[in-house]
Amino acid sequence: MTAPYEVVIGIECHVELATRSKMFCACSAKHFGASPNSQVCPVCLGLPGALPVANKRAIELAMVAGMALNCTNPDHTKFDRKNYLYPDLPKGYQISQFDLPLSVGGFLEIPLASGGTKRIGIRRAHLEEDTGSLLHGEEAGARYTLVDFNRSGVPLLEIVSEPDLSSVEEALAYVQGLREVVIGSGVSEFRLEEGAARFDVNVSIRFTENGETRWPPLSEIKNLNSYRSLEEAATYEADRLWREWQAGGDIRTRTSKITVGWSQERAATFLQRAKEDVDDYRYFPEPDLVALNPDPAWVASLRASLPELPPARRARFASQYGLPEYDARILVADRELADWYEAAAATVPGQGKAVANWVTSELLGALNKDGVALADSKVKPAQLGALVALIASGEISGKIAKEVFAEMRASGADPAAVVKVKGLVQVSDEGAIAAAVDSVLAEQAKAVADYKGGNQRALGALVGAVQKRMGGKANAAVVNRLLAERIAATA
Ligand SMILES: [Zn+2]
Repeated sequence: MTAPYEVVIGIECHVELATRSKMFCACSAKHFGASPNSQVCPVCLGLPGALPVANKRAIELAMVAGMALNCTNPDHTKFDRKNYLYPDLPKGYQISQFDLPLSVGGFLEIPLASGGTKRIGIRRAHLEEDTGSLLHGEEAGARYTLVDFNRSGVPLLEIVSEPDLSSVEEALAYVQGLREVVIGSGVSEFRLEEGAARFDVNVSIRFTENGETRWPPLSEIKNLNSYRSLEEAATYEADRLWREWQAGGDIRTRTSKITVGWSQERAATFLQRAKEDVDDYRYFPEPDLVALNPDPAWVASLRASLPELPPARRARFASQYGLPEYDARILVADRELADWYEAAAATVPGQGKAVANWVTSELLGALNKDGVALADSKVKPAQLGALVALIASGEISGKIAKEVFAEMRASGADPAAVVKVKGLVQVSDEGAIAAAVDSVLAEQAKAVADYKGGNQRALGALVGAVQKRMGGKANAAVVNRLLAERIAATA
């Protein structure tokens, strides 16, 4: 059943940047799991007289993220104070960027379920500082709230999309694409589970009523920290807006957006603020920091250092190595794995697909089973490449290769050495194979008759018998050909 309305979604994504120190002081930015208020100083506690010093690395990472999202970086940008009172904000204001953000006007391509891609506009990406965190509890009937300022002042990048997302599925594809780009460019680890990445989702509905297009004010769902909550909250709120409209509620007359929270327990949104305007924040330029005019040479060098991002790398894997989308997706999902694959594939030109098969099935399967990290694999990229080369040249069969691989995985030996020591070289000598084929055909008259009678499986039994005589080392292609030739000759 199709909904009677169109969903319109825009997303503001906050990600903590992968810096060692905080945005405006030298305190550690790695706050997750640290004991409360152990990583604080007068600056991030907002004590009187403390002055901020901007973290250059954070500015670089913020610009790199913008570049990775196809944004431009204006020549002139600045920091502003966003004033509001909340217990987790010790200064009474947050240093953010108001009208002159670091990055503007980009886009992200997302895959569509129907095939093809859609370009989602990125309005801006600006740098700010994170707040502290509140812990609510109850003891002996008394409710209390504790505050931890370890997170206060951690560099935070806010990436704002245009309202180009037309469904909850597109919203999910967008945040997953964003995660890929942000991690791929080394900007952030995007740890949703640590609260180091979170989403504010703007949801509205558009529909036609009495021949007129209606597009009532949006709801901003604050602070979603998982894909599941994004999916459920956006779906719920769109439907709730529609029901409110049908019931003749407040939505029919109000002119500004509302802010709502999401309760996972009740699977429902709840109203936080009915009205909010940028005027409420009384933004003004941060007087303790100078304006930021990025040097064009600095911007150019950052742009030049941008690594190849996952979407581009997948496309290259498809064209350069002939990999299907499925293989490319598995390999590129992990940068280290993709690098490993490329190192192996480089040693055996023209065998990209075969190398991918070995990496995604045998290698990953073995590492997983042994509980070994890729970096600690005894089999090195060049060794796997050498193994694939031995198969490609016909020196060993695919079946023998698995035996060789098992030995490589255990000892780290080179495949050629394993083949030599174990005497596993494939026999392609036609004379030897023909002798074995003739003996088998003489012994297995019934299987031959079955095969001639149309039973294809009988051929498998004959192949197996030949391989048994040859110690499993006969070249399978030669065995098949000679069997077919000999049987045909007796017809
Ligand atoms: Zn500090």
